[in-house]
Amino acid sequence: MTFTEPTTVDVAAFDRWIRAFARAAHTHKELLTELDAAIGDADHGANMDRGMTAAVAAVDAAAGFDSVAALLKCVGLTLVGSVGGASGPLYGTLFLRMAAAAGTGAALDAADLARLLTAGLGGVVDRGKAEPGDKTMYDALAPACAALTASLDSGQDLAEALAAAALAADAGRDATVPMLAHKGRASYLGERSIGHQDPGATSVALLVRAAATTLVPAHG
Ligand code: ADP
Ligand code: MG
Repeated sequence: MTFTEPTTVDVAAFDRWIRAFARAAHTHKELLTELDAAIGDADHGANMDRGMTAAVAAVDAAAGFDSVAALLKCVGLTLVGSVGGASGPLYGTLFLRMAAAAGTGAALDAADLARLLTAGLGGVVDRGKAEPGDKTMYDALAPACAALTASLDSGQDLAEALAAAALAADAGRDATVPMLAHKGRASYLGERSIGHQDPGATSVALLVRAAATTLVPAHG
């Protein structure tokens, strides 16, 4: 373990994260739609692309934020307002809860970031009541939060912790394949939901991957 200046994650870093996630949602729109076509109503790609395109437009229109919370709140409100599906309120709540946990500062440290993401997970649970193994976005987000926190607690730096979180989200996403859906539209299929990857867990893995590639400066 090396002792260096604590990494701070500032408004500009969060701005990069939002934009990277919007690009990923756009790039993977067809994949998310195909996954939702198998066990839902084939709109998750359109929902995430529309929502994140609107979020980036809202961030651009605001012309700067003096706090991380203000940026995250803008994204959350825009998602709630622009996405009709389950994912709009769920992702919206994720960002709004992160905003509520972010205080008033223009920069956070690594531990704060883990706390924010975990608060966002709590919002998703409050809103959607998902439990582990229900085959939802929870199943990618919860392992990512746990990995982020555990990695930081063990003394790894933020870049390492976010990389671990991204791997955990990917593994959580993959683990949804054999699950029987208990929440959302996929639950209507009963046993026929088994054998398909959850669309929301897939977009969450993109969100966490985007965090790993943007929240830490290349040479901190
Ligand atoms: P809709 O289901 O309304 O068409 P989307 O297709 O955009 O909305 O999003 C579907 C995703 O939302 C699912 O793959 C799942 O991950 C997530 N989801 C649905 N219901 C819940 C819930 N109650 N809790 C957590 N995530 C959920
Ligand atoms: Mg859908």
